[in-house]
Amino acid sequence: MFTAIFVLLVILACSWVAIKWMYPRPPKGYYVPKPGDSTELRTCNYCNNSLAEWRGIVDGEKFFCNAEHQADFLAGKQYKAPSQAL
Ligand SMILES: [Zn+2]
Repeated sequence: MFTAIFVLLVILACSWVAIKWMYPRPPKGYYVPKPGDSTELRTCNYCNNSLAEWRGIVDGEKFFCNAEHQADFLAGKQYKAPSQAL
């Protein structure tokens, strides 16, 4: 009986280690704004998505949700939603 419980504990410990190894926690503070970051909603000048200011890129008067949209906007491209891309 003791053996069964021991084996079960070993399996649980191994699973726990495996899960921690496969899904590491992101660095602390990764998903939360730092003090001083603006949480105001801004609209991306390229795709018109709304995003909190601290999650995106502020470029003067303009705002972009990521560097890719900033580059495409500056390149003069027109935004296409993924569903319209085909
Ligand atoms: Zn965008």
